[in-house]
Amino acid sequence: MLRVLKVRLKPNSQQQQALSQSFGNVRWLWNYFLNLMNQTYIDTGKGLSGYEVKKQIPQLKKEHEWLKLTYSQCLQQVCLNLGVAFNNFFERRAKYPRFKGKHGKQSIQYPQNVKRVDNCLRLPMIGDVKAIFHREIEGKIKTVTVSKNKSGQYFASILLEDGKEIPLPSASALVGGKERGGKAIGIDLGLTHFAITSDGSKFDNPRWIDKHEKNLKIKQQQLSRKQKGSNNKNKSRRTVAKVHNKIANCRSDFHHKLSRRIVNENQVICVENLAVANMVKNHKLAKSISQVGWGQFCTMLKYKAEFEGKVYQEVDRFFPSSKTCNVCLNQVDSLPLEIRKWNCANCGTKNIDRDVNAAKNIRDEGLRIIKTSGTGDKAYRQTVRRSNRGRKKSTTTLVSG
Ligand SMILES: [Zn+2]
Repeated sequence: MLRVLKVRLKPNSQQQQALSQSFGNVRWLWNYFLNLMNQTYIDTGKGLSGYEVKKQIPQLKKEHEWLKLTYSQCLQQVCLNLGVAFNNFFERRAKYPRFKGKHGKQSIQYPQNVKRVDNCLRLPMIGDVKAIFHREIEGKIKTVTVSKNKSGQYFASILLEDGKEIPLPSASALVGGKERGGKAIGIDLGLTHFAITSDGSKFDNPRWIDKHEKNLKIKQQQLSRKQKGSNNKNKSRRTVAKVHNKIANCRSDFHHKLSRRIVNENQVICVENLAVANMVKNHKLAKSISQVGWGQFCTMLKYKAEFEGKVYQEVDRFFPSSKTCNVCLNQVDSLPLEIRKWNCANCGTKNIDRDVNAAKNIRDEGLRIIKTSGTGDKAYRQTVRRSNRGRKKSTTTLVSG
């Protein structure tokens, strides 16, 4: 299966300069071809494919000498990526391709010929760039994407084919359920707590943004006062990016640790399908939802479960998990949000914890789906095709930390 290994890069000043030139070149090329494709469509009503624009590279190199400073395969890759971006748009998987800006994240993609040499990554035309490897490279290096984030840090995302098969979800998990396996868990994601599990654990929602918010606000005010285009503005922009970066890192660390723990301790993991994108549109809830990052957490649960042949199952979000008594399955008509504990009028169970009850229902509903369909949700299957040469659909997973 394909895996992604992300490593930090520490280019020296000369390499930084060379990278900066290449980031600029591929960005220029992307924007040039995107514009050309738009214009061609307006003029002729026909589109241009990535392969068609690729043929123009040699001519462009004659007109713009500086394009030769960038590894030619990276330039060709830009055309292919643009083609993929349009395909994704036409198949409704993504928005219309956008022009790339100078101030955002910068990146360049090497389709091949990157090697690890000791503690360095050997990039064509850039040289041996010092890298921090937290784990060995296991398998064959396919593509390597070098990026620079807004706070000036460099990373390489190395796509690896490790030659291993994805383990099949274990049969005992599928037929055993909670009675035999005893290792199924339901997770209710909430705002009062980040996650509540069917075994009664409550994990607090760490509100880092509140903690860092004051800092962020000050830094953003400082940024707004800086003169446009000045060096100070750029410096200030990096400072703001650093605070954002800090928050994102803390959040992803928390998600990694909690998802690892849940996957280690359980065979079947059932989560409510939250349709996060729709919920974020509700502005009242938007801030705290974006902040807690359920989507990222579920993605981690999914791929971590998949790697170990465990089952990740999503339960429809319209399933009434809160309003159903887990003991007798009686459904109450209404259960306002402020009621945290309730008594079931049907079976007489007292002090039902609203959230733990919901988590138990999610677990049972997940197990029911697994038993009737016979399979779990195939975790994190990426359906985007990387090229149109008929390569098979692949599973890509981010491994870090
Ligand atoms: Zn009941």
